[in-house]
Amino acid sequence: MTHTEPAFAKLNLTLDILGKREDGYHNMRMVMQSIDLHDVVTVSTRETPGLTLTTDLPFLPRGDGNIAGKAAARFFQATGQCAPGLAIDIRKKIPVCAGMAGGSSDGAAVLRTLRRLCAPDMPQKELEEIGALVGSDVPYCVRGGTVLAEGRGEILTDLPPLPPCFLVVCKPACSVSTPELFGLVRSKRLRCHPYTAALLSALEQGDLEAAAHRFYNVFEDVLPARYSQVFELKGALLERGAMAASMTGSGPSVFGLFRDEEPARQAAEALAGSCQEVFLCRPVAREDVSSSFSF
Ligand code: ATP
Repeated sequence: MTHTEPAFAKLNLTLDILGKREDGYHNMRMVMQSIDLHDVVTVSTRETPGLTLTTDLPFLPRGDGNIAGKAAARFFQATGQCAPGLAIDIRKKIPVCAGMAGGSSDGAAVLRTLRRLCAPDMPQKELEEIGALVGSDVPYCVRGGTVLAEGRGEILTDLPPLPPCFLVVCKPACSVSTPELFGLVRSKRLRCHPYTAALLSALEQGDLEAAAHRFYNVFEDVLPARYSQVFELKGALLERGAMAASMTGSGPSVFGLFRDEEPARQAAEALAGSCQEVFLCRPVAREDVSSSFSF
């Protein structure tokens, strides 16, 4: 059996850190949004036991070292089923180490596929719990859409969808160390926090402009000066008509939100020379992630 599944990137409309926990993780509060930029993950069952993992990015880990391989292992541990031979192929489009949860999304696509192939009656909640054993962003990526993620990222509340819009996502060439940023959050006092309740109420009212004004990522507050390109790109997006611009995850990718396609396309074209990659994207609804359409 073979199944091919899109693994959608995510953006953080907000990212807030509430404090460090005794287990070493941080309590987070984040509004997450799936976008149509996606990897393509194909899972095939085989007669021969074991896992083979192929990808078009040769520097990514293979086997269990890849988040997709780890997800497969955790799935069969959790179900107690004897793991069949598996071949996983990942075609990457989501930039790596970019704050867009590319690896987590590949892992989530494997989990959705294995449920479809091996455990079709498994409830969504159970699949998300297996996701939490794979990584903090995986439960959200299993579900997708517009979601409030709390705790480590595993306490999920569905939100009304972001109204139709266009998102210009810019990936600078630099990469940011997530542990370094968490360390800086602990040593500095965060000056501002997102007003998450106001974003939820804007989403409730379907008010794109009010929602856009609430985008905020606390990691921006502690970004070392060497990442000035993040702020330059935000400025450039706003100058070109974005209603709001923010960094996603621990960066360094930055996105701008536009109501209309043409200004978004022009901004994407104008910024293509200023960073490594630029994507013109649209939000993806939860139904389109969980329906797991096959290509
Ligand atoms: P997040 O937004 O969840 O912090 P990210 O987008 O910053 O994640 P990823 O692209 O998911 O980062 O990759 C993080 C690390 O995981 C990299 O070091 C990469 O080598 C490793 N990795 C393992 N499996 C994958 C995969 N399938 N795709 C991308 N990276 C993977």
